[in-house]
Amino acid sequence: MSSLERYSTNRVRRLIGSINSIRFKDDTGEVEYFGQQVVMLRRDAFTLIRDELTRVAGGAGQVILGIAGHTVGKEEGRALLAKAKAPGVRLPQSLPIFIRLAVEETNMGYGKVKIEDFSTESGTVNISLLNSFEVDPYRHTLKPTCAFTLGYLKGIFSELVGRDFEGKEIECKSKGDAGCKFRLAVRPESNAGTSPK
Ligand SMILES: [Zn+2]
Repeated sequence: MSSLERYSTNRVRRLIGSINSIRFKDDTGEVEYFGQQVVMLRRDAFTLIRDELTRVAGGAGQVILGIAGHTVGKEEGRALLAKAKAPGVRLPQSLPIFIRLAVEETNMGYGKVKIEDFSTESGTVNISLLNSFEVDPYRHTLKPTCAFTLGYLKGIFSELVGRDFEGKEIECKSKGDAGCKFRLAVRPESNAGTSPK
């Protein structure tokens, strides 16, 4: 890594660290994360909601969770970009580093995210996830279970890169794999609609 890259990485890391903070507004009973309103939800409450959704709606349950994750990912990407612009980080130059750190170091409690490889030319990304909050360690399934996270990753990448991403979960701990792995790619017909400025 060149000294310029290292400088850039440290700056972006500091920037993300500075916005990666949680704020309890006890007087109004609100919690803010990244300046956005959030609620604290136990992992098992999420599992309960998902199980009921699947019971009632079948496969549509996964679709609904995917849409919810996608919306959250897009909002998160938008918030990160907005914050990044403020302190004058020259985004076009440091965009790949920014994207990597933004995705890896934004701890939403979903699990430990790592970008294995990310090619801006081909528009493909391989992501691994340890300790996914959508994996129930006591239950094995035949299909991947991390629909919300998949949607989230597609959403955050779409927003940060400025192109629509599609993809799937190719390995999942719920199926007995070592961890969860996602492969995303730019949707072929997608053009730069909301490219980051
Ligand atoms: Zn999974």
